[in-house]
Amino acid sequence: MNLYEQQELTIYNSLSKSKEKFNPIHQGAVGMYVCGPTVYSNVHLGNCRTFLSFDLVFRYLKHLGYKVRYVRNITDAGHLENDGESGDDPILKKARIEKLEPMEVVQKYTVDFHTTMAKFNALPPSIEPTATGHIIEQIQIVEKIIAEGYAYEKNGSVYFDVLKFNEDYTYGKLSGRQLEDMISNTRELAAQSEKKNPQDFALWKKAEPQHIMRWPSPWSDGFPGWHLECTAMSTKYLGTQFDIHGGGMDLKFPHHECEIAQAEASTKKSPVNYWMHANMLTLNGKKMAKSTGNNILPNELFTGENGVLSKAFSPTVAKFFMFQAHYRSILDFSNDALLASEKGFNRLMEAFHSIASLETSKTDTFSISEWRQSCYDAMNDDFNSPILIAQLFEAVKFINSVKEGIAGISESDKQLLQQTMSDFIFDVLGLEDSISENNADGDKLTGAVELLIALRNQARSNKDFATSDQIRDQLLAVGIQLKDGKDGTTFSVN
Ligand code: AMP
Ligand code: ZN
Repeated sequence: MNLYEQQELTIYNSLSKSKEKFNPIHQGAVGMYVCGPTVYSNVHLGNCRTFLSFDLVFRYLKHLGYKVRYVRNITDAGHLENDGESGDDPILKKARIEKLEPMEVVQKYTVDFHTTMAKFNALPPSIEPTATGHIIEQIQIVEKIIAEGYAYEKNGSVYFDVLKFNEDYTYGKLSGRQLEDMISNTRELAAQSEKKNPQDFALWKKAEPQHIMRWPSPWSDGFPGWHLECTAMSTKYLGTQFDIHGGGMDLKFPHHECEIAQAEASTKKSPVNYWMHANMLTLNGKKMAKSTGNNILPNELFTGENGVLSKAFSPTVAKFFMFQAHYRSILDFSNDALLASEKGFNRLMEAFHSIASLETSKTDTFSISEWRQSCYDAMNDDFNSPILIAQLFEAVKFINSVKEGIAGISESDKQLLQQTMSDFIFDVLGLEDSISENNADGDKLTGAVELLIALRNQARSNKDFATSDQIRDQLLAVGIQLKDGKDGTTFSVN
């Protein structure tokens, strides 16, 4: 019997705005699509939070025994600056600034994304398709939508006719926006555009001469509208109707609303059964974003090289910090919160490693199987990782009381406890052991570098700057960077 037959998973569906029992279309199998990054700059921690939220979903579904096909795209064309609709293509803009081919920009930041996700121990998706690799599929969808009467061509571009669509379907049902309100808010813009109505969105854009990322189509040499790629790639790999579609909350409108409209207009079917939206990571109370510069890059976190950080933090600690909030809650990033998470995570690891040496007795004072089920209950309740982590700390408390001789544990419960902790910490949350063998080496390294820092401080107080600089420079040459801060010197390994 598969675990998913014993556990009742519920998912908050953004479309129905309620928690629903999860029933996949095909028994035992799940199709999941998540909007991937637009690859024109390094991913920031906010982007990472969304992808890690869905890594947790992927991992838990797999843990329950589902066969999951997880598709996450790479946006390498079509995503213009203003919600995808107008302005520059940021990939082309970056290519001009850096004097690179657009595809060099795409490659550079795709590699950065993969490297970063690997550092966070996120599992790769099953399929990672690109927009540029699916131009034909996108053109075919535009042809279908035109044939159904929900799109029109103007000067070589094709636009989705939102008003026409809204006569037969409902535009705005995901975001809860009313078309009439949208129209009255944008009336004055209408005259300047080749669109019939400002709410219409581009399916295909004719390329200006300087726009070098272009493909031939029945309408013009041009490029697809941003929303179209996700409709093309999700339905190609998962079918016209599939189980889960995810992305950050900021993609609900217009991106996902337009995806629903495109799919309904071309297939007459609602494409997704469960829409999931992950909430934002903020910094100083404001959304982390590429465009405003209000963000922290993963590498800055791993090296401590950012003014808001007092030290470096490992990817696992950062992930633990993120999972201490539910994926649908806003989470504010701060150095203090990370310090607290680091302490908590180390305590969790210490307790986990001490299970093996616990003395067993005949009397159980804590029902491990009930506790184990409460770990599942937390995850079954819309992937509630903070409650799961609270349950793991219940176990830490119990482990410590066994150590103190206040509580007892039987041999079989000890094994179940160890197995359950390992399942949830490593398989489901995807955290990495901070006291692994590597880390034993890490402890030795820390000891040696701390000694060198002390010698450097001594040299500095003797005004022997030649020696202090030599220590700093030679450490840097082997990839160890010292950072002088108000609380002393810390180091990071690059
Ligand atoms: P983009 O590359 O801008 O399309 O963003 C990639 C993913 O990151 C999308 O799912 C966004 O919703 C998500 N995202 C962007 N900013 C944040 C943030 N501050 N917190 C969480 N997710 C974010
Ligand atoms: Zn998308």
